[in-house]
Formats: sequence, C-alpha cells, structure tokens
Amino acid sequence: MALIVHKYGGTSMGSVDRIRNVAARVAKWHRAGHRMIVVPSAMSGETNRLIALAKAIVPEPDPRELDMVACTGEQVSVGLLAVALKSLGVEAVSYCGWQVAVRTDSAFGKARITAIDTVRLDAALNEGKVVIVAGFQGVDPHANLTTLGRGGSDTSAVAIAAAVKASECLIYTDVDGVYTTDPRIVAEARRLERITFEEMLEMASLGSKVLQIRSVEFAGKYQVKTRVLSSLTPPEMDLEEEAASGTLITFEEEESMEQAVISGIAFNRDEAKITVTRVPDRPGVAYSILGPIAEANIDVDMIIQNQSQDGLTDFSFTVHRNEYERAMRVLREEVVSQIGARTLIGDAKIAKVSAVGIGMRSHVGIASLMFRTLSSEGINIQMISTSEIKISVVIEDKYMELAVRALHAAFGLDQPG
Ligand code: ASP
Ligand code: MG
Repeated sequence: MALIVHKYGGTSMGSVDRIRNVAARVAKWHRAGHRMIVVPSAMSGETNRLIALAKAIVPEPDPRELDMVACTGEQVSVGLLAVALKSLGVEAVSYCGWQVAVRTDSAFGKARITAIDTVRLDAALNEGKVVIVAGFQGVDPHANLTTLGRGGSDTSAVAIAAAVKASECLIYTDVDGVYTTDPRIVAEARRLERITFEEMLEMASLGSKVLQIRSVEFAGKYQVKTRVLSSLTPPEMDLEEEAASGTLITFEEEESMEQAVISGIAFNRDEAKITVTRVPDRPGVAYSILGPIAEANIDVDMIIQNQSQDGLTDFSFTVHRNEYERAMRVLREEVVSQIGARTLIGDAKIAKVSAVGIGMRSHVGIASLMFRTLSSEGINIQMISTSEIKISVVIEDKYMELAVRALHAAFGLDQPG
C-alpha cells in the first residue's frame, strides 16, 4: 500500500465526462489499496478565460487581484472531482491551497513554494479518504492567495509528493510521455521509457513543454520519483500496466551506463541575439555591456566574445524574445556610445537547437558529429554553448526543423533503442 500523488492537467479535466474518467481512474488506484492525493489543474481554457476577464478591465491588472481571479479555476476542479469520486462511492475531500496550506512567497503570478503543511493531508489520508488538492495556488505569509505561474500545477503536485514523501508522483497528461524530440516535427520521434532528472531539466529548459521546469527542479532537489503518462488511456486499464507506462524520471547514476549517448533533441524559438560590434577589447567590456542588462533584470542565456583583431572585438549574447526590445533599448541608450562600440545588431530570427544526453559526458566526438551533420545540411552555426550533458547551437530560425530532423537521425534516435 503506497502513498501516490496523481496530477491531472487541464485537458484531462476538460469536461464533466473527462472528470468522471479521472475519478474512475483514481478510484481504481484507491481500491487497489493505495493512499491517494490528487492534484488537478483548472479545466482546459479556464485559466486563460479568467485572466482575459481581468485584462478586459485593465491591460495590466493588479497582480494580487489577478491571482485572486486566476486561482479560482482550480477550486472548481477540486470540488467537481470530489463530487465525481463520491458518486462512485469513494470517500474524498477537496482542499484549496490555502486550506492545506501550500505556503509560498508573495511573488504574485510566479510565487515559489516555501513549505507545505501535511497535518491536514495526513489526517484525511488516515481516514482512508482520497485527498484532492488544488494545483497552481498557494498562500503567502500575509494570507494572500498566490499562483505559481502558468503550468504551475505540475510543481504543486511534485512539491506535495515531496512533502508527504510519496512513493511516486504520476503526472497524467495529453501526451503519453517524454519524446526524443517533438513528434510534430519528427514523425520517427520515440517515447523514452526513462530519462534522468538532469536530462529532463535540460529538455524542459530548452523548450520541451511536457513539464513546468520548476516541477523538474523540485523533483531533483527532493528526489521525487516522477512519471509522465497519458490520461487518455481507458480508466479501467490494468493498473500494473498503467503504473509502468509513460516516461519515468530517474536518478540512478547506473542508468546512464546502458543509455544512449544522446537522449533527445530539444529546440526553441524563444530567444533573440544581440551583437555589439567593434568594442575595444579591454578589461571590463563584458561587464559594461551585461551589467546594465542585469540591472534591467533581463536574463542572458548564451554569450560569445570573439578573439580581438586590432584591439577590437564583437560581443554577442542571447535574451528571451520577450525582453529583446527592452535589451536593445538599454544598450542603445546606455552602453554603445559610452564604450565606443561601432554598431548594435539585433536578430530575432534565430532558433536554438540542442542535443541532450547524460551519456555525452563520457563520449568524445558528440560535438563533431553535431557540427558535421549541420554542415552537411548547409546550416551555418552562429553560436555554440555546451554543458556537461548538452550542446546547443544558435542557427537561422528557418532551418530549425531541418536541423532537428537531421540531428535526430544522425544520433540514431530514429531507431528503437
Ligand atoms: N491552470 C494553470 C494554467 O493554466 C495551471 C496549470 O494548468 O498547470 O497555467
Ligand atoms: Mg501543463
């Protein structure tokens, strides 16, 4: 008899019939003897609808009040799910975040969980009830309601699983697991049976939208065994089979020994490149460019400074596309003239493509295979960055899909493992 957390996304909760299906699935687990906590999202489209209501009044609603509105979708979900479970004869109780309490800081719209009380959860579990906790929401130290950022119920579920020391957190969603790359781009993409937490973190940060990245960070920090699996299978599916389906996020180091060198190809179009040309190559230049960017609270991803010629060098970096205009403004106004650079060039037509795999730690030649593959497709590499388990390149965005397909094939990801 294990303690299990289930999380259901908006699509899984999208209609009364689907909520009945969720209830049937949860009832099956409960009847098999498991202690169950369930964390649902709002019904699909609901959070967007709520935010749009507030924004129809003013374009930038007060953040506290926006959270007050946005978090209500989950309250509806937990109540409906409890009603559905009771209708199946399963004792269940629903809680909002504040009732538990899921404690957060006061960063409205992107609050971080600081602690989760387990007294109420434990008490209800001990009474044999299925406990349903609203995802996405929490309460700050001043009793204000908060939300965790879009997609935040993944994080709620994993954080609750960590707090109650659940044996597994199952994230039920509208895809059946984590893939070697996006199947919409590469038809041969395969579902991974396992992926290490570190790889998952890279995949999530590089654009694979299966899990909110903070949930992956939580899973890693607290070693929560987390599985991504389909909510579209029949609820009466054999429990053992269901429990082994999807993609398991693992922690064991031995795992990597038998694993493929590369686990996946990730990509995104979320960044823009900024280049300051002909800057004097002297101490303090990088700081004089990136200092004001940091002060403006703009995150920088990749950075390149070239070898100088005649004491001058080019300096490039990438920022999120949403911050691109602002970053350009900061540089134009504050920096370029002061440091005596020649020009400021911005380019939003870029894409980042990355090969991710824990196996690359012990393999030379991964980078050269990647570069050879891109060159044989005639794709120019504009920037490169590497970490222990990832190589990323920036290329012109119109070549992104071609690059992803070519790399997916070159690293043998098309072939069944
Ligand atoms: N309902 C929230 C959202 O749409 C949280 C979630 O679905 O995870 O972002
Ligand atoms: Mg989601």
